[in-house]
Amino acid sequence: MVEMLIDGYQYLAFVIIILIASLYYALSKQFWQSLIGLIVMSYLQGLIISLWFYSDVFLNFFTMSILLAIYYYIFFPKVAVFVVALKAKYSSDTKSFEDNTILTRIKEIWDIPEEKYLFKEYSGKHSFGAFTYLVGRLKEIYIGKELLAKLNAEEVVYVVSHEIAHHTGGYKYLIYQFLFPFAYIIPCYACALLLIYLKIATIYSFLVTTAILFILGVVLFNYTYWKIEYTADLVALRKTRDKISAVSSFRKIAEEMGEKDRNIILNLLTSDHPSCGDRITKISNEKI
Ligand SMILES: [Zn+2]
Repeated sequence: MVEMLIDGYQYLAFVIIILIASLYYALSKQFWQSLIGLIVMSYLQGLIISLWFYSDVFLNFFTMSILLAIYYYIFFPKVAVFVVALKAKYSSDTKSFEDNTILTRIKEIWDIPEEKYLFKEYSGKHSFGAFTYLVGRLKEIYIGKELLAKLNAEEVVYVVSHEIAHHTGGYKYLIYQFLFPFAYIIPCYACALLLIYLKIATIYSFLVTTAILFILGVVLFNYTYWKIEYTADLVALRKTRDKISAVSSFRKIAEEMGEKDRNIILNLLTSDHPSCGDRITKISNEKI
């Protein structure tokens, strides 16, 4: 049992302070400072919120501190991405994508109902990219102006095909993400019960085990994203049957992003997308 140490306003103050510090680390340009800072802030945020709301039952306190830390770490840096996506959706500069060579090619290779898909072109300084909204009646695919400037027509066809694939083959992996918290509760509860059973439930064993389960959870959660991306890559490749353009589009993206070769675990900890290098390897190994 954990006693309520402080009152609600003080918890709220801590939550806000950690939010501000997280923002600082999320915007930091230094890789290690940003990574370690966000990990520590997420862990603290999970701890503070679970102390605030779940401190009366040890099992819940233990598990919620981990799950909250994982979700905070995963989604806090994504706020910026959501803002870019929303801006692209509602900006008056966003227009319908009208490159007929590319659209004709897409229609040739994808047997998709035309009235259900919308292809749009967005601009601005974050327009080196492409994305799609997975929910909604219409399947909207957004292609960035800067991306269009760097890729040739066949490479754009591949990138757009990857986005379409998210609505077909890549979709099923989303279920893993919905199931993740329910599945991850099990090892968390088991560890907490073990600490109690072995009579070693101290503040130190709590900090060590929850920290390990938090890091492991982030890696597993990101891996579900990676599966979604790899699947979409391969579904797109099987449709376009154009390995050269698939590989060259990722080469250009890696170059533009200034991608560095990093250890796979570090990548799993820091990114919800596999590196372009890994994606090129998977594509190159695929027989078509
Ligand atoms: Zn994708």
